[in-house]
Amino acid sequence: MLVELAAQTGFFITWIIIAALAVLLMIIMSGLLFWRDYANPTFERWQRKNDPTYPSPLMVRREALQMLKGVLSASFCPALALYLVESGWSKAYAGLGGHSVAYLIFTFFVIWIGSDLYEWAYHRLGHTAKFWWQQHKGHHVFFNPTPFAVIADDHADQFLRSVPLLAIPLLMPVNMDLLFLTYGTFFYGYGVYLHWGHEATYPDAHHPWINTSFQHWVHHAKSRLYKPMHTGFFFKLWDQLAGSVYEAPPETCLCARCSLARGERTRAEFDAIPKPDYRPLLRPSFWLSGHPDSKDSHLPAPAAQPDRAA
Ligand SMILES: [Zn+2]
Ligand SMILES: [Zn+2]
Ligand SMILES: [Zn+2]
Repeated sequence: MLVELAAQTGFFITWIIIAALAVLLMIIMSGLLFWRDYANPTFERWQRKNDPTYPSPLMVRREALQMLKGVLSASFCPALALYLVESGWSKAYAGLGGHSVAYLIFTFFVIWIGSDLYEWAYHRLGHTAKFWWQQHKGHHVFFNPTPFAVIADDHADQFLRSVPLLAIPLLMPVNMDLLFLTYGTFFYGYGVYLHWGHEATYPDAHHPWINTSFQHWVHHAKSRLYKPMHTGFFFKLWDQLAGSVYEAPPETCLCARCSLARGERTRAEFDAIPKPDYRPLLRPSFWLSGHPDSKDSHLPAPAAQPDRAA
């Protein structure tokens, strides 16, 4: 489907179409989760929220705008991969392309595990080398992330994260719909979960090999330059091998399971926490100006959160 689209429309239109589809996917996936857990929080869900506070609408606006920036960079490589099919450079194919179903399944695992290792290594570089931290630190402005932070990255950073979408079809024959579906739903979907800012009961933070939303929240809250911590995406394995994992005894562990077992996260605490009014996010004027318009003047102005990226 995508290979045919690129053949008919050329590179730039393909790039724009992929970017537009990505934005749509993000608004739906991240938006629904945000609506449920941030705009309409409940006590039970807050008990599983990693950072007990809610970010200001201004901060969420900044996240979403940075996400749009990330989309443009992230869709460049896949559009180029599709474009190169015609010239014979790319080994991308549509349908089965003369390959077996077993090969399709094999390539899924190569994409999944290979990309996970690559994303971990590249992300780790962003926390171990000053030059790469300069590219990556924009993502760490969001120390209390929402589902809009998934690809809230600067251009170079997001471009390099999406390189497998070009490199894989240059290196091996691959069904492009499978590659895009794996990245769009599996990786983006998992990224939404990682930036959820809340924990599920399963898998919980102490799962032996799955990197959960807790680990990625710890990453946002604690990982800095020269302090890599849980730079992995799906598998914990890479960080376990590199020794860059968060470990704390049950008496001090920050995860929801341990916090609740210690009797923390009480109703009184929840009631005392400010719940920002996110309605300005529904108004175009707020997106353009960054200021609540006159209709919001009865609302307290959302305070910008301090920039802890540096
Ligand atoms: Zn990072
Ligand atoms: Zn993140
Ligand atoms: Zn714990």
